[in-house]
Amino acid sequence: MADTLKPLNCPACGKEMEKVLIPSEGINLDICTDGCGGIYFDNREFAKFDEQHEDISEILAKLENKSFIHVDESQTRLCPNCGTKMVKNHSSIKKAIEVDECYACGGKFLDNSELVKIRQEYLNDEERSADVINYVYQTVGSELKEQHSKHSTIKQSALRSLFGKLTGF
Ligand SMILES: [Zn+2]
Ligand SMILES: [Zn+2]
Repeated sequence: MADTLKPLNCPACGKEMEKVLIPSEGINLDICTDGCGGIYFDNREFAKFDEQHEDISEILAKLENKSFIHVDESQTRLCPNCGTKMVKNHSSIKKAIEVDECYACGGKFLDNSELVKIRQEYLNDEERSADVINYVYQTVGSELKEQHSKHSTIKQSALRSLFGKLTGF
């Protein structure tokens, strides 16, 4: 788990990341405050911060009014938690933002400012899921849409996995 006391080195710039306690969640996030401004989330942390109603003031306080070193976002990165090569995935079907994901431990790395941009894409997870449903509907037909209206609480993770299988996205 990334919220242990083990210091992590930033996968983008190599600097040691700062442990930032988020008291409301009782977790430590790893933020590259002395380097590129990137943030590493472990497999259950990211979902606590990706919706607009969720509080990221402690994260923003660490990042505001700082200038960060520029990094090449196209580079392949290694997961700072487990060392596995990370995979670049779009944060949504809008395909505007790429996030590095570790398929071994579930960690995610966001470059500076990507968290704010991801939160601006959708109001909440329901809208994010609905957009995926609409895209899949247009792509593969109406069958899934009918299923979705019958089971409107399909888990977002299940949708993402299905979407990945259908599109390779
Ligand atoms: Zn960094
Ligand atoms: Zn990992």
